[in-house]
Amino acid sequence: MIKKFLQHVFRGKKKPAPHTPHEAERFPRRAHGIDRKLISPAAMKTIQELHKAGFAAFIVGGAVRDLLLKRTPKDFDLATNATPEQVHRIFRRSRLIGRRFRIVHVMFGAETIEVTTFRGSHLSDDGDSQIADSGRILRDNVFGSQEEDAARRDFTANALYYDPQSEEVWDYHHGLQDIKAGMLRIIGDPVTRYREDPVRMLRAVRLSAKLGLKLHAATEAPIPHLADLLDDVPPARVFDEMLKLFLSGHAIESAKALRAHGLHHGLLPMLDVVLEQPLGTSFVTLALANTDERVLADKPVSPAFLFATLLWHEVLLAWQKHQDQGERPLPSLMRAMDEVSDTQSQKLAITKRFSIVMKEIWSLQPRFEQRAGQRPYRLLENPRFRAGYDFLLLRCQSGELAMDLAEWWERFAQANAEERAAMLLPNSEPAKRPRRRRKKPSTAAQ
Ligand code: ATP
Ligand code: MG
Repeated sequence: MIKKFLQHVFRGKKKPAPHTPHEAERFPRRAHGIDRKLISPAAMKTIQELHKAGFAAFIVGGAVRDLLLKRTPKDFDLATNATPEQVHRIFRRSRLIGRRFRIVHVMFGAETIEVTTFRGSHLSDDGDSQIADSGRILRDNVFGSQEEDAARRDFTANALYYDPQSEEVWDYHHGLQDIKAGMLRIIGDPVTRYREDPVRMLRAVRLSAKLGLKLHAATEAPIPHLADLLDDVPPARVFDEMLKLFLSGHAIESAKALRAHGLHHGLLPMLDVVLEQPLGTSFVTLALANTDERVLADKPVSPAFLFATLLWHEVLLAWQKHQDQGERPLPSLMRAMDEVSDTQSQKLAITKRFSIVMKEIWSLQPRFEQRAGQRPYRLLENPRFRAGYDFLLLRCQSGELAMDLAEWWERFAQANAEERAAMLLPNSEPAKRPRRRRKKPSTAAQ
């Protein structure tokens, strides 16, 4: 009887959900191999000061993961048990950021270290009032313990805390083991975690493509079934995530992975069209390859240019439609541009400062076809000439226009005054229109 009772107490106790907070395993230097010299001096200094003031402070998230994978971290984010106000008081050169959940930016010359107070569970005491019917977390703004902070992070590899003073890695969810196995695994029940925040599905795809980690089977399996949840995410957040995805230096793998997981529908109309087809030397593939090359060579990339390429075939389609209905080419193009960017903004809000440049790049395109009189000179002076030309080059390389048009502009841009004058097409004759594909863009994309 007593035995039964004890069994009931010990075995019958409700098993905690896999992502309920629990203690960390602590690994010394020889177990994880992170070299302290790779930590930015600014992050080191911030941690030392927080320790001196009696607080816990760790490097956390992407930086620890990247160091374990022998990659150079983009930035060093810190987590601490000090409140934002306490952190702000310690560092003269710091700013409190954010209204809802305040974080602190500590500035050291050109470097900014983001310091976040440990965050707690999203469940409030009176139940799940901060969760929408779909399971999506609406507010996420409570301070918590370090264990709770670890439990609300997305992947086991992202829930590692490194203390460069003791050189210990604190691991709450077997992240070290997963990283060693080349595995990206969500913390807790995948369906619940994706419902809480559907952007985690995009992050899963992006991080596994970027880091060469395999998605754990249970982390991967529900994604195609839950893809529609992304419809409810505010478009500005989707935009931020897509930007990271396309500017990661692994845009092609990421785009392929989005397609493989059924996540591309509705995000960008162009991805729907292009990714449904075998990825060949289509316009978008060329553009993504170009972007990857630039990112990996540490050259600047323009998000406006990238989105201009991703949406171009939509614009072409609408432009052609309006012209077929008898509208003149330029007004047709303007209308097409507006239509495409309006439809797009319902799903993914391209920031205004990018969408303005995107439209400028598009609207320059017909001007490259005018090669007589003063017009080519005026186009050369346009501040967007270079971006417009690079865009034209992609159009030519993908077979949309004849290559000699891009070649003409390349020569014209480099020629002296005399050579330029000789290159102009005669004023009396209309500029010869380069060959335009008759096929619809959807088939041209193969
Ligand atoms: P990257 O190298 O691209 O910056 P990252 O993992 O550092 O990747 P961030 O957006 O900088 O991505 O996020 C920092 C950390 O915050 C992550 O490592 C993770 O622990 C946590 N995090 C970010 N987004 C989420 C999310 N949607 N849900 C749960 N935790 C998240
Ligand atoms: Mg990061």
